[in-house]
Parts: sequence; structure tokens; C-alpha cells
Amino acid sequence: MQNQSAYLLKAFEFEIRDVPMPECGPDDVMIEIKHVGVCGSDVGFFEDPTYGGFVKEPPLPFILGHECAGVVTRTGKNVKHLKEGDRVAVEPGIPCGKCDYCLEGRYNLCDNMIFMASPPFQTAALSRYISYPAFMAFRLPDSVSTLEGAMFEPFAVGMHAAKRSGIFLGKTAVVLGSGCIGLMTLLACRALGASAVIIADLYDNRLAKAKELGATAVINSSRQNLMEEVLRLTGGKGADFVFETAGSKVTAAMTPDLVKKGGKIVLVGNVHEDVPINQLQLNNNEVDLLSVFRYHGIYPLVLDAVASGKVDVSGVVSHTFKFEEVQKAFECALNEKQTAVKVAIEF
Ligand SMILES: [Zn+2]
Ligand SMILES: [Zn+2]
Repeated sequence: MQNQSAYLLKAFEFEIRDVPMPECGPDDVMIEIKHVGVCGSDVGFFEDPTYGGFVKEPPLPFILGHECAGVVTRTGKNVKHLKEGDRVAVEPGIPCGKCDYCLEGRYNLCDNMIFMASPPFQTAALSRYISYPAFMAFRLPDSVSTLEGAMFEPFAVGMHAAKRSGIFLGKTAVVLGSGCIGLMTLLACRALGASAVIIADLYDNRLAKAKELGATAVINSSRQNLMEEVLRLTGGKGADFVFETAGSKVTAAMTPDLVKKGGKIVLVGNVHEDVPINQLQLNNNEVDLLSVFRYHGIYPLVLDAVASGKVDVSGVVSHTFKFEEVQKAFECALNEKQTAVKVAIEF
């Protein structure tokens, strides 16, 4: 067995290198990676290893990828719930389990979190083999593929946002942005019973995908007036829930115009600049403003939702590339944003 990892050398340049097999500790499993999804954040680091100044001194070269699934090839001596040959989806963050946030159950806020492909870049997925704490590896039933397993991660983001919003049966949502996270939020809202989910984006092909995955109405905001359309589709009142997933200053600033009185705005996309928001309008309409950071305790629920056939997470994947083509995969995700809704890498 020869392990290999895809290293980002500098902006826009990967190199696949031979690396030693990872050590499998007593509480770990060794996993042969089968699928890795390319996340918007991975593409952000590919384009600019400082991620727009977010990481002052990026430790180049480093490995990217955090949406992954594979096959267990070895188990540490304390591991009871997994065995060799099991296929698993990996939750890519290892919380400390000891800080206030972990003890409250909100481990996504853990002060000592080690998250794949995030500072300080201690773990990542774009390798043939990784070793990982077994408690963060979730066994996939036969009906769930490793491609779907790799999509658990972005679906967990959408599901955490939808769960945190409190959306339920009969409610109406507007999702701004029809990229991967927008589509995952759509799937989560529908799975939780939302009766109408309206999606807005600038590109028709992405909106077609949204329709295919269950959007009840789509708005192309390059041609249509977003606010007028949302009001028209909601009887002049606005939506109960508005999810901003585009990470755009413009759409984030528009959210108060799209939400119903007493409704909720959920900020899912990361906007890397200040957003002017009409606070008086929020107050007058008693609108709740929520933010989300990753997720916690969502993988078991995601696993059930996908295994039961309720949610088609692999429907979001638009392109797949071989591991050897990692450079091409990232170029596709970066340069073909319109058509490349989700790029996945297979091993
Ligand atoms: Zn991701
Ligand atoms: Zn912690």
C-alpha cells in the first residue's frame, strides 16, 4: 500500500506526493478514501491560500478536502463499532470534548476543534489513506454509496441551518443561492416539511437543478426582480424563513425585504465584507436573525435521512474527477462556477 496526498503548493497548483501510511492509534480507524467533495472553502484556499487574509501565514504546502467517505482498512484496538471492510462517512471535525461548548453539546464552537483543511491544517481528506478517530466515522448501510457519504458534510450544513431555524410543516422558505449549500438547504427544508421552497440565483442551469431537487418556485434574479417575485409568490407577505447561502453582500442586505413579519433570517453563506442591514426594519417586523457555523450532532440524522431514501444528496454532484486529476477538478470548480454545482473526486 502506497499512500499519496494531494498538496496545494501555492495558489492554483497541486502536486500529488507519495507519503507514508498514517499511524492508526488505539481509538482510530484507517480509512481508504473513496470519495471527496470539493467544497467552496477548498476552492477558496486553491485560489488564495490566505483565504482572503483569513489565514495570515498559510503553512504551504498543505492538504485540502473535508467532505469524505471511504472503506475501513484497519481498526485500533479500542474500536468496537467498526470493522475492516465497513464503508464510512467521516465527520471532519474533532472536538476536544472538554471545553464549555463541548459540554453544552455545541461542539461546533469548540475552542480546540481540529477541523480538516482548516487552520492549523492538521488533518485533511485528499489522500489515499487517512487515520481518523473512530467516533467520528459513521458506518454506511449497503443502500448508501460513498459518494453520498461524502455529501453528508455539505448536507449537514444545510440540515443544521434548517434545524436551527425551526422550520416545520407548512412553512415557506426562500433560499438565496442555488450552489451546493443552497441546494442542500433546500433538501433539508423539504425533508423537515416546508411546503414551499423558493430558490433564487443568477444562473438558469443551477435553478433547473433546484427544481429537479424539489424547489417549488425559482427566481432568476439576473432577469427578475427578486423582491417583487418573492412578494408575489407569498401573497404579499414575504417568506416565513429566508436562508442566505450565496455569501453575497447584496443578497444578505436584501433579506429584511424578503422575510415575513415575525419571520426568521438565517445567514448560512460567509460574506467576507461588512453587510449593511436595515436594523430598524428588522425591529419593526420583529424578525429573528440567526447565524450558523458548521453543525453538531447532525451526522446520525443525515445518515437516516439518506438511508431512508428521503433525501437525494448525490443529486447535487455535477462533475466527478479521478484523484490523479485533482488539479483539473479544482480548476473546474473554480472556473466553471455556473455549471459545476458540486465537483467530487473519486479514488
Ligand atoms: Zn464543505
Ligand atoms: Zn471543546
